[in-house]
Amino acid sequence: MNILVCISQVPDTTAKIQVSGDGISIEKAGVKFILNPYDEFAIEEGLRLRERFGGTVTALTVGTETSKEILRTALAMGVDKAGIVKTDATLDSFNVAENIANYAKSIIPDIVIFGRQSIDFDSSGMAPMVAEMLDLPSISVVSSWSIENNAIIAERDIEGGKEVLSCTLPCVISAQKGLNDPRYPKLPDIMKAKSKPIEEIAPSHGASLVSLTSMALPSSKRVGMIVGDSEAEITSIVTALHEQAKVI
Ligand SMILES: Cc1cc2nc3c(=O)[nH]c(=O)nc-3n(C[C@H](O)[C@H](O)[C@H](O)COP(=O)(O)OP(=O)(O)OC[C@H]3O[C@@H](n4cnc5c(N)ncnc54)[C@H](O)[C@@H]3O)c2cc1C
Repeated sequence: MNILVCISQVPDTTAKIQVSGDGISIEKAGVKFILNPYDEFAIEEGLRLRERFGGTVTALTVGTETSKEILRTALAMGVDKAGIVKTDATLDSFNVAENIANYAKSIIPDIVIFGRQSIDFDSSGMAPMVAEMLDLPSISVVSSWSIENNAIIAERDIEGGKEVLSCTLPCVISAQKGLNDPRYPKLPDIMKAKSKPIEEIAPSHGASLVSLTSMALPSSKRVGMIVGDSEAEITSIVTALHEQAKVI
């Protein structure tokens, strides 16, 4: 089975984010970048598919030179090949999707696996956009799935229940948290991954369709109230919740 896993580099969840002077980007100095956490589930799923059906797992990212770090992580986890569409240009999600789709057309995967969303820009749009560009069926935010007779049967968590969907291969899926327990790369594999080749693919894209016009940090912390547990104090907090916060 020919498996393509798409991965993105994002700021560490614990990083202290500051908006740059231009108002449309973040200060990268001092920020640690990591493999998007949802993409760990995608890589693990690709590796499990290979273990069951044989074949090749390729990890692909669209990014700058520094994004090679996450490809090294994917190689240490066990993917067979790694590729980067390398660019310093400002890309919107559509441009990123176009580059992924172009690469996919060159290797004709049986399945393309994404994380459910990037934890920095949070669009959750990449998987359906690439599926549309490749004219393939797609199922997003998959929490468990199986393959039988060249078709996938996938479960999705929905409000108050589960949904079961099916489509034939080739297809595109995006992985939900909990789909599997991603393996930790072993130290010898981390060391070996440092010298493995990474294919560089030339970017190709048009103008961005969507422009970021501003970004801002959340407004300052909410004001809290400290109350006691006397009857009068409990009455006052219930009154405040009812009259000021209007939540009860
Ligand atoms: C070189 C470069 C420069 C950029 N410059 C800017 C900028 O200046 N301003 C700005 O606002 N945004 C910028 N971006 C971010 C870009 O616009 C997208 O928003 C981002 O790459 C994808 O985020 P998303 O929220 O659309 O992905 P989602 O749709 O939320 O991601 C879902 C999944 O898609 C896959 N995926 C996401 N991104 C990539 C990727 N890059 N490569 C491979 N797979 C991926 C992962 O599996 C991920 O889990 C840049 C991106 C790149 C690669």
